[in-house]
Amino acid sequence: MSVRETTLKIVNPATGIKITRLPKDNAETVQQKYEALQVGQKQWTGTTVTHRLSCIEKFFKLLDVERVELAETLTAEMGKPYQESLNEIQGARGRINFFLNNTTDWLKEEWMIREGATREKVTFEPLGVIGNISAWNYPYLVGVNVFIPALLTGNAVLYKPSEYSTLTGLAIQKLLFEAGVPENVFQTVVGGGEVGELLLELPLNGYFFTGSHATGQYIAQKVAPKLVPVQLELGGKDPLYVMDDIADIRQAAANAVEGAFYNNGQSCCAVERIYVHHNIYELFVEEFVKEVKENWQIDLPAKPHTKIGAISRKVHLEYLTKQVKDALEKGATLLAGGQQAQRKGYFFEPTVLADTDHTMKVMMDETFGPVIGIQRVKDDAEAIQLMQDTSYGLTAAVFSQSQERAEAVLEQINVGTVYWNCCDRVSPNLPWSGRKHSGLGATLSYMGIRAFVQPKSHHLRG
Ligand code: NAD
Repeated sequence: MSVRETTLKIVNPATGIKITRLPKDNAETVQQKYEALQVGQKQWTGTTVTHRLSCIEKFFKLLDVERVELAETLTAEMGKPYQESLNEIQGARGRINFFLNNTTDWLKEEWMIREGATREKVTFEPLGVIGNISAWNYPYLVGVNVFIPALLTGNAVLYKPSEYSTLTGLAIQKLLFEAGVPENVFQTVVGGGEVGELLLELPLNGYFFTGSHATGQYIAQKVAPKLVPVQLELGGKDPLYVMDDIADIRQAAANAVEGAFYNNGQSCCAVERIYVHHNIYELFVEEFVKEVKENWQIDLPAKPHTKIGAISRKVHLEYLTKQVKDALEKGATLLAGGQQAQRKGYFFEPTVLADTDHTMKVMMDETFGPVIGIQRVKDDAEAIQLMQDTSYGLTAAVFSQSQERAEAVLEQINVGTVYWNCCDRVSPNLPWSGRKHSGLGATLSYMGIRAFVQPKSHHLRG
């Protein structure tokens, strides 16, 4: 086999230059890692929750100690602006803190009937060795949603970071080991989809996936005969509706831009389409474009104040170009950007398309880049109908002065998360779950702890 086949090339998307080549896993190494994890899991589940918490607390501290180097690595391999890399690590620590504070309570045995001839209780046991196939856009955040509660509840984890964030995946593994998680309890595999496939062949006790709808659906079908838990955190086409009663159009526009373009628009819950009430449409669009042109410039992601960094995957530049072309051919108005930036590396200009409609791909297909469509609506009823016109169901947002009016809209939308006067936000206290093509199951909150255990019901006589 050639070096190309046996190694994974890591490229800096801001320069197009190779960072390094890593040896890829193969069927044999994946099998060896799995077998080691089987042994390790049995020992790990025999340790106390207090011991497991102390390891994860050390990891929590190490993330902070090492944050500068970790953020530099993340920015170098996936093009995220440096400040956003630091924010992501800090955000991941917030989630870990939630798990540190809540896991013990949700693992306690629960008595249903304490007295009488037959007593009844529930205890919770780990699933075993689970697979975590992960995405590149927020490797820390989507990673800790899975492997932290999985480890705390006594599982072993076979972790496949995305091929676009592998150095980060390996850095996470190093810190977990330093924190005291045994090497036969957490193992990273290196490679792309073909290496992910190898995990699907193993008799793992659960599959936890973050990524695109297409891959998620494929994985769910492939592992279905195993009858083990499968959780999917998939894509979205998240709508924002701006009502005509908002107090401050400029502020609303600035918040909407941030929701659309943070992380170069490569967020599962990014604002992907905007509907604006016709009474304020022109004013809102004007403020939106002004905000983009004044505050969201492209620059090298490693610089401290960069807002728009590089697109992580070169192939995606062509996808974005096609979405813009399709919208313009169907009558959209281009108000900013519109093309790949004329510079080295994989950069796409922050792009604003107004006067869009639902014949255009930019309003229907996940964009996952710094491109947004804005559409005029005549009233709340039309906004509801358009917000619902999607195969996805991750989040939906409404900006309005009236909570009542906003909630009347949001209760009609079939999504896992709704926002009033905010957007593009995840909290560890609340379940993170997609509906329809956006996913299956929930991470975070107490549900994201219980997702990694199975109940055992006890009927006790005597
Ligand atoms: P992707 O589906 O291309 O890849 C995800 C992972 O699956 C990668 O590790 C990849 O190597 C692996 N993979 C690919 N083919 C495989 C196969 N045949 N068998 C096993 N594994 C395989 O997605 P991506 O580009 O990494 O991530 C972007 C997508 O993820 C977007 O759609 C985004 O919305 C979604 N996402 C969702 C959430 C959420 O919480 N809902 C969070 C982040 C990203």
